[in-house]
Amino acid sequence: MIPYTSSGAERLILAGLQPGPEGVHPISLEIAGVARRLAGEGGFRTAGVFIAGELTPAARRQLENCGLAEVRLYLNPAFHPFVPEQQAPALLHCVGELRPEILLLGATPEGRSLAPLAAVSLETGITADCTALALNAGGLLVQTRPAFGGGLMAEILTPQARPQMATLRYGIFPHRAAGEGGSTRLVPADPGPLPPAKTQAEALTAPAAGEEAPVVLALGGGVRAREDIEFFQNLSRVLGAELMSSRSLVERGWFPQSRQIGLSGRCVAPELLITLGIAGSVQFMAGIQGARRICALNTDPAAPILRIADIPLICDLYEAAARLCP
Ligand SMILES: Cc1cc2nc3c(=O)[nH]c(=O)nc-3n(C[C@H](O)[C@H](O)[C@H](O)COP(=O)(O)OP(=O)(O)OC[C@H]3O[C@@H](n4cnc5c(N)ncnc54)[C@H](O)[C@@H]3O)c2cc1C
Repeated sequence: MIPYTSSGAERLILAGLQPGPEGVHPISLEIAGVARRLAGEGGFRTAGVFIAGELTPAARRQLENCGLAEVRLYLNPAFHPFVPEQQAPALLHCVGELRPEILLLGATPEGRSLAPLAAVSLETGITADCTALALNAGGLLVQTRPAFGGGLMAEILTPQARPQMATLRYGIFPHRAAGEGGSTRLVPADPGPLPPAKTQAEALTAPAAGEEAPVVLALGGGVRAREDIEFFQNLSRVLGAELMSSRSLVERGWFPQSRQIGLSGRCVAPELLITLGIAGSVQFMAGIQGARRICALNTDPAAPILRIADIPLICDLYEAAARLCP
């Protein structure tokens, strides 16, 4: 355990930034944007922590322009591929040096395993999968996340322990335009000797299904038969889309859980999401808040998804799909 005493004079928000396939992972830019917004509202300083095997030129460019005051760089070949026990000492070292009031990480597979490890060492709480963050009148972080199956939005405070820790759902928070021209200072950092590599730990390198796809085709309960899935696989190839589903089809055993969108599945943030025969339950909607445009096809004019779709189409999904993929 790291003895942790936050100093009132050093009120700081620390953004956990992680590498992605090209440069930094897009969630990092969302986290940096949230950190900057909260810092502006509450008079905090900002910093980032980037833990990676190396710093690619693309990642350097993005970090230099992410708009945070500084980013601590922990670079070591031992940090790639990702193993949470290897990275935790670097994160804890950074927290020990900077003593942030607030620590934000991505609710990616990596963030979801690293954050609780760090929280246990810091003896603080953590709110996982936040969909909104704000400061209350007393300057505490209000961490909002769906609870009870999405039936209510819980607002969680961490009044005593520090840092106030939260992971952010991917694809929900806007990327805020950051400073151009390298306004963020990159500061090399070193956590000291690392623990021996854990060979039994699973390395998480590939992005989860649909997480980074620009076009997602999502099927729902309106699909009539299992044999029809092959047709929609062809359609998704024609459209250049990743094929995903609502929970209905996962429950029928037609799709693996890894392809389920929603509260108990994955969040997607494509440029275009096409839904076929999906009603639009609150649980499903929780996974599509980051979609830029939604085209929804449903026979029922009262289906909730049609109310939030940019392109709502009241039609039979089979007739429409047959026109696209004869
Ligand atoms: C704790 C909890 C967590 C959950 N997590 C998730 C989650 O992560 N993701 C998720 O999706 N659900 C989740 N659910 C389930 C959720 O409540 C809904 O049951 C589910 O989203 C319904 O999926 P659906 O809209 O595809 O199917 P349905 O509710 O069966 O809706 C089918 C829709 O298709 C339309 N339709 C039918 N035939 C056609 C046709 N020929 N052409 C066009 N439209 C047609 C119908 O009008 C209807 O609107 C969760 C529930 C709980 C309690």
